[in-house]
Amino acid sequence: MGAGTTDSMTQGEPRVSAAAPNPRRAVLSGWGRYPLAESDIYRPDRIAELQAVVTGNTSSLIARGLGRAYGDAALNDQNRIVDLTRLNRMLSFDPSSGLLRCEAGVTIAELIDVFLPRGFFPPVTPGTRFVTLGGSLAADVHGKNHHRDSSLAAHVTNFDLMIASGYVLRCSREENPELFWATVGGMGLTGVILELELRMRRVESAYLEGELIRAGNIDAAIEAFERTDSQYGYSVAWIDCNTGKSALGRSILNVGNFATLDQLPRNLAQDPLTTTPRLSPIVPFDLPGFTLNSLSIKAFNALIYTFNREKSAHTIFDWDRFFYPLDSIRNWNRIYGKRGFVQYQCVWPPQESRAGLVEVLEAISRSRRGSFLAVLKKFGAQDGLLSFPMPGYTLALDFPVTDGLLEFLDSLDAMVLKRGGRVYLAKDARMSAETFAAMYPGLGKWREVKAAADPNNRFSSSLSRRLTMVPA
Ligand SMILES: Cc1cc2nc3c(=O)[nH]c(=O)nc-3n(C[C@H](O)[C@H](O)[C@H](O)COP(=O)(O)OP(=O)(O)OC[C@H]3O[C@@H](n4cnc5c(N)ncnc54)[C@H](O)[C@@H]3O)c2cc1C
Repeated sequence: MGAGTTDSMTQGEPRVSAAAPNPRRAVLSGWGRYPLAESDIYRPDRIAELQAVVTGNTSSLIARGLGRAYGDAALNDQNRIVDLTRLNRMLSFDPSSGLLRCEAGVTIAELIDVFLPRGFFPPVTPGTRFVTLGGSLAADVHGKNHHRDSSLAAHVTNFDLMIASGYVLRCSREENPELFWATVGGMGLTGVILELELRMRRVESAYLEGELIRAGNIDAAIEAFERTDSQYGYSVAWIDCNTGKSALGRSILNVGNFATLDQLPRNLAQDPLTTTPRLSPIVPFDLPGFTLNSLSIKAFNALIYTFNREKSAHTIFDWDRFFYPLDSIRNWNRIYGKRGFVQYQCVWPPQESRAGLVEVLEAISRSRRGSFLAVLKKFGAQDGLLSFPMPGYTLALDFPVTDGLLEFLDSLDAMVLKRGGRVYLAKDARMSAETFAAMYPGLGKWREVKAAADPNNRFSSSLSRRLTMVPA
């Protein structure tokens, strides 16, 4: 970003040609249902209305997509939220390059519905498809292919950002590059992403050819990741957190590549881009807190492990079963009961990953807290100033909110920090400002870019205030 460009863009405000829509007052949460926050929520249909929301009132504002960030990233307690889900048009697509231009409210689920039958898949996807592209870029999300393909930003050529003045800036690696790198992973705090251009991945089928690999402990899991690294573009391990000693970190590793036509059995090869939608069970109400006590978590993990043990090594997977096993149970976040849950995702640099994993898994085993779901992935290279990934291994854990949980997670923070690791903002609901500053070395530079684009800190969230992302 040329400093001059930003200065001129933040002076004065553009002419606003529409009124802001009326807000509705509501209590919201992230996917973890912890914490809760009350806000005025605007849901504009048009860019001009959005511009009126951004410039018409000086109180703080944050964008929200589908609210799948777990903690308080898309919350703004006692302030304003702008919901982007109505700005969801697909604008253009070039099948020869795979370049798609669309508005930020388009979801990954919609991309798959429209483009998988045409032989294209999103280049990066998180573990749920019910996220918007704006929210995904703001968190610079990673998928099971980060070790090979990096995060979403690596596949985005440019985006349009409405900054606090109401002006819209095109951001790319060449145009306003500093704002580009501060916005990807910048959790909505540099402005509102309006539309973006991303390169879709060409695929021959809607299936993946891959393996389920059983690993008896964490060393076997890391060995399996390293051994299959160059062979498979996608990899993830489901860890059983409820074992100790020689079985600490026993896992099922799921690896795969999009299947080519000649890898498919004849019945699937006849119609390779169509899969049958599955009926999804719904968790209809909050399950009582006791449902997920440490015994039931243990039983669940033992079941996954035993079930998968029987499967044959090489398998063909449907895209939805491979990428989105959790999406098959709608509202699964209700199984944690009314108090909600916290997801804790951390990453360690390569040389510290094994020791860090052992330390955290042992602490969980000692604490008898268990984690219903625990996911291990390998990361590769990364660029954004506040992007979460770094080369190394990342572990994601779910903990129901119970007494003493926050103190326990503080102790995990200390373990991760001392090994040079960090915690993911899109999952966070409780980290301290000091820990955050120590974990994110790009914060100083990010603050400079933020101050230039948003000098009055118009874009602010419950997360940004809790973490003092912008010093007073
Ligand atoms: C089951 C599940 C699995 C997940 N798996 C993964 C995973 O594998 N990898 C991963 O990286 N993440 C994962 N996530 C997290 C999720 O991908 C991110 O939190 C993502 O940001 C959610 O998108 P959203 O549209 O719901 O955004 P929200 O949750 O609504 O917002 C997230 C952030 O984006 C900002 N934002 C939203 N829209 C815009 C916009 N238009 N302009 C500017 N800022 C905006 C918000 O201010 C907020 O800071 C998972 C979440 C769930 C629930």
